Amino acid sequence: MNMIERGRVFVQKLRELAGWSPWDWRRCPRCGGTWTYKNGGYVRRPWTFEGRQEVRIQRHRCHACRRTYKEEQPWLVAGSWYAREVHRCAVDQWMHQRSSLRRVAEWLRSFMGRQERWWLWRVTDPKPLEQKERCGLHASTVQRWLDRAGQHAQAGVRGQLEGLPCSGQMGTDGLWARLRGESRRVVLGLVDSVTGLIWGMIVVAEEESAASWQALLEQARAMGLSWEGLNGLTSDGAVGLLSYLRQALPWVHHQRCVWHLWRSLAADLAQAAAQAARGLSKEVAKATQRAVRQELTALLHAVIDAPSHEQAELALAQLQAHAYGARLARKMNEQFDRILFTLLECHRGLVRISPEWLWRDFRMRLSRGRNHGSDERLQRAVLLWKVYHDFTPAQRRSERKRTYKHPGQSPLEVAGGAPGEISYLDALEV
Ligand SMILES: [Zn+2]
Repeated sequence: MNMIERGRVFVQKLRELAGWSPWDWRRCPRCGGTWTYKNGGYVRRPWTFEGRQEVRIQRHRCHACRRTYKEEQPWLVAGSWYAREVHRCAVDQWMHQRSSLRRVAEWLRSFMGRQERWWLWRVTDPKPLEQKERCGLHASTVQRWLDRAGQHAQAGVRGQLEGLPCSGQMGTDGLWARLRGESRRVVLGLVDSVTGLIWGMIVVAEEESAASWQALLEQARAMGLSWEGLNGLTSDGAVGLLSYLRQALPWVHHQRCVWHLWRSLAADLAQAAAQAARGLSKEVAKATQRAVRQELTALLHAVIDAPSHEQAELALAQLQAHAYGARLARKMNEQFDRILFTLLECHRGLVRISPEWLWRDFRMRLSRGRNHGSDERLQRAVLLWKVYHDFTPAQRRSERKRTYKHPGQSPLEVAGGAPGEISYLDALEV
């Protein structure tokens, strides 16, 4: 079962529970026997959006199996002082609203207990002289709920995306994270370039070792990715990834991220320009440097952005022929195929830039990992965010610079997963 199906089962179970009549509760849920009798009960006083409620929980005893059971309420969470809606709202406020733990708790307290900020909102309401009952929801409780959702995400890694189609054209990128105590980690992500669905997200010690990338791809396989179906992968030139691909996935074409490539060429460009200006007087040197740099940049563009392999070959020959272009041409020659895989028909959908857009939203929520004391905790938070991301539609907006490929659609929808009414909260069984 993938996470959509799991979410559906969860919602179905809650709906069924909500529809149970007193007659249904006479059937023992353990043995199915109907020779049962009412056996007392107890009162619970959970906090809900409407304030504190009192609810009597009926207990039954079964003659057949001699055990007791209680009538479950779908809107309550076992062992919690807060109703399910409060749990779900808290997780959503942190995840979707990007609020801090403290503010989530304060907001919900104000709302449920008619306290604190409530009186800011209701200016003409008479404020009671004495508050009957104060809500005491604390930030650490919200954090525990979030971590529980993260544990759920982690426990559900196996089969999480089972049965969902993957285009085979992927992108991968890493983000530096800093844990409490200044230790550094890297979060690696693997994304389908066509649908935006995340096929793996993992916290590792470093980006340069093949073992880190192996862990990412193993996780992707556990989620349901078929390695045989992998075709192209865009990333920067991380050595660990390249060596791992060569050894374990030799059929996968590695597309060099063009943005990272330009960055790595900057030093060579500067060197070539300096070489051209050697021995010249100051003013002349400056002008020469600028001219050479412009010429070489134009030639590099002609190679990197060539519309076909033939044109790229021609441009490379021109670069080679340039008085100061030899070094750059050698570098481009080494990378030649890797720059141009996106031109091939079989790599349609593969992109030229590694998926750095991933971290834009990620950092708004998880920043660079601070407040997550340990690797395990960060890993859970990362997987929680991943589930949220997969279920969350891209915004419908066209103003300013940002446009989305599939506005109003979540990556799961684009991938054909049809989540329908199922949300990430259902998938995480909050
Ligand atoms: Zn029974």
